[in-house]
Amino acid sequence: MAGTVRVRFAPSPTGHLHLGGARTALFNWLYARHHRGAFVLRIEDTDRSRSTEENIAAIVEALRWLGLDWDEGPPAPGYRQTERLPIYREHAERLLRAGRAYYCDCPPALLDRERKAAQARKATFRYSGRCRERGLAAGALRLRIPEEGATVVNDLIHGPVTFEHGQLDDWILVRTDGTPTYNFCVVVDDVTMRITHVIRGNDHLPNTPKQILCYEALGYPLPEVAHVSMILGPDRSRLSKRHGATSVQAFRDAGIVPEAMVNYLARLGWSHGDQEIFSRAELVELFDIKDVAASGAVFDATKLEWLSHEYLKSLDGARLAALAAPFIRAAGLTPPADPARLVPILDTLRERAKTLVELVAAGRFYFAPPAAYEPTAAQTLFGPEGARRLGLIVDRLAALPEFTAAALERAYRALTAELGLKLVDLAQLSRLAVTGGTASPPIFEVLALLGREEALARLRRARAACGGTA
Ligand code: GLU
Repeated sequence: MAGTVRVRFAPSPTGHLHLGGARTALFNWLYARHHRGAFVLRIEDTDRSRSTEENIAAIVEALRWLGLDWDEGPPAPGYRQTERLPIYREHAERLLRAGRAYYCDCPPALLDRERKAAQARKATFRYSGRCRERGLAAGALRLRIPEEGATVVNDLIHGPVTFEHGQLDDWILVRTDGTPTYNFCVVVDDVTMRITHVIRGNDHLPNTPKQILCYEALGYPLPEVAHVSMILGPDRSRLSKRHGATSVQAFRDAGIVPEAMVNYLARLGWSHGDQEIFSRAELVELFDIKDVAASGAVFDATKLEWLSHEYLKSLDGARLAALAAPFIRAAGLTPPADPARLVPILDTLRERAKTLVELVAAGRFYFAPPAAYEPTAAQTLFGPEGARRLGLIVDRLAALPEFTAAALERAYRALTAELGLKLVDLAQLSRLAVTGGTASPPIFEVLALLGREEALARLRRARAACGGTA
């Protein structure tokens, strides 16, 4: 359909997906969804020595984790540059036939000398154009660019940026060995994939005038371009490993909620009033690439964790259960076979954690009996009197007609009154017995969720640990 927005995310699989790439992917995805256009995934794997299958798989998995689904792309064929070599060749031949490109056989040693001489003069190296009019039939294929004038990049975020042609040179489209260069592949791909908006990191801005000249030489209309600022570390230098974890996978493994990651990345350099929490539907509705800030955005791990906590509190139960189950398994524990049993367990934990890892750590005892009792608490609570009280609790709980939090609370209150104690005395004793620690969600809920059989087994085991008879 004419006028339909088509955008692409074009990662080079030379590493995993990092925050900057994830944000670029998200902005493209949001732009496509907002305009009901198409989001294309293209793998830029022409650098064969640094591209790996493992990195492709990791990028694909990270995009899936973020929920950024693509309308076109792998595993369908034709979306990896290494599968597209005949298309690049065909376009190179067209440029050659039209006189917009020419062969150059300057030996690398000569070009190297010229490069070094330029460096010595503190000038940018530009190819001399020596082979322009030689009409060679082989060599490296170079794009003939205008000597005079300038190319203006009309960036949707930065406005017009002018590049004098005097600063550019006849760059190589296809190397002597027949392999196309990165900038050439990008142009041919964007043209043949009918990309209408190129949204990418602003580290690519210097490539854009070169690419525009190639579009013009091919006689293709230009796409709109938008260069998204870099993500910065707290010291305002470009975010890198020095600043800690930067791959999406690392945040996933740390238990950050994916919805929070998406919300966080969207707000990094984009805003809508002072709203912080956006549902995916709101982002799709409100996002516009023109509203993205031109300056770099500083990564703030505390804010990401705050958002993750907010999402943990409000996520739909079934979604939370689906997110938590792999973390429960990763902790060596077994989630209940019936997910309906997991949801109420997680409901008692969601307020208590910023990440899924913390959530599981706070609720380990739901999935396995305590391996040990907190020593200081055990010393005070697990004496002969503790054993006697645990025995009484066991008798009461075994006789309860229904094992609900409300019924448990009534039984505890009655027993507390009979023994002339405070509720907290029996509550802490029971908490230590069933969870192994002194902090947990409300104890009556914990007991009810464990179920009568498991709760009684743990109380009896604790009683035995007090030295009483089980
Ligand atoms: N493959 C490039 C990268 O990963 C992106 C190029 C582009 O978006 O034009 O940085």
